[in-house]
Amino acid sequence: MRVTEGGVEFQVPDARDGASEGRGDGVFYNPTQELNRDVTVAVLRAYRDREPRADSYLDATTASGVRALRAANEGWDVTAADTDPDAVALARENAAAAGLAADVTVTERNANALMHESVFDVVDLDPFGTPIPFADAAFVGARDLVCVTATDTAPLCGAHFESGVRSYGAIPRNTEYHPEMGLRVLLSAMVRTAARYDIAARPVCSHVSRHYARTYLELDGRATRADECIDELGYVHHCEDCLARDAEWGLITHPPAECPACGSNRVVTAGPLWLGAIRDREFVAAVRDAVDDDMGEADRARRLLETVETELDEPTHYDQHRLCKQWGRSANAMDEFLGDLRAAGHDASRAHYGGTTFKTDADVEAIRVATAD
Ligand SMILES: [Zn+2]
Repeated sequence: MRVTEGGVEFQVPDARDGASEGRGDGVFYNPTQELNRDVTVAVLRAYRDREPRADSYLDATTASGVRALRAANEGWDVTAADTDPDAVALARENAAAAGLAADVTVTERNANALMHESVFDVVDLDPFGTPIPFADAAFVGARDLVCVTATDTAPLCGAHFESGVRSYGAIPRNTEYHPEMGLRVLLSAMVRTAARYDIAARPVCSHVSRHYARTYLELDGRATRADECIDELGYVHHCEDCLARDAEWGLITHPPAECPACGSNRVVTAGPLWLGAIRDREFVAAVRDAVDDDMGEADRARRLLETVETELDEPTHYDQHRLCKQWGRSANAMDEFLGDLRAAGHDASRAHYGGTTFKTDADVEAIRVATAD
């Protein structure tokens, strides 16, 4: 099956053998990730303005090579690695057919070994499942930027609790803000992994969908900067009865015995989570500007990036429908709801985690009062 993405044409395994829907026997290609790859190209464009020295790009698990080809098409010096000989053969064919063979080095190697031997300006981890097996080598083997996709959303958000604890060394909790929980568990693990090598890894762009979490971490080799990242880790105490939550910064937690808002003892604690900003506002604006109409998901990418740019930095979001259900109300229009919050003196913004999600500096009780009829 031939597919065109971002002006690059390539061959992927026929969908009929099931390979495009998962790992399967064939080479992995995931069409639902086109938006993710469009944003990647826009990030690579914007990043070049931010760090003009950046030139080399490693696609650590290249599969059919689509992400690598799209980076090469942008003028990056690309290395594409995979341990599957079928994937390597297909990626090579695709590079040749696209006229990019001179720009992409396709190699049948384990990316960890490759990153141990060579330094790349940008390393992209886009494996099937958790990126953890590649994280250590990536932070050592990358100079500027580490891009990470995690598709194991159930472990990340607490739906598969033990698996999440094992992979990420953090306690995830299954809350109504589970996509953000997953992202902050992932970011926490990445920040702690980099810090072990005295490297600061700070997210400059992140977004989450039902199927994956994606983040771009800019690196800084100063240990003091790594300390500053560690200072942005902490815990969220969440009341399962009234949905109140508190963030507590620091690696030592003091979970409350009961919910300070309603007195319930059904308070769960998640962490250590990344509690800091999930993106650099200015950079995300530049990424949005770098989206162009040749991209298949240009409209969605622009909308997504605009929301990511403008959402508040509170560590958790709320879901309007969940709150209204809690209070036995019918949900009104989001703009009206957010307008009521602002009229009451609170900051409020939409959030990119879903159409009814929002962020505010108001607590649950203040939201209820501000938005009451
Ligand atoms: Zn409570």
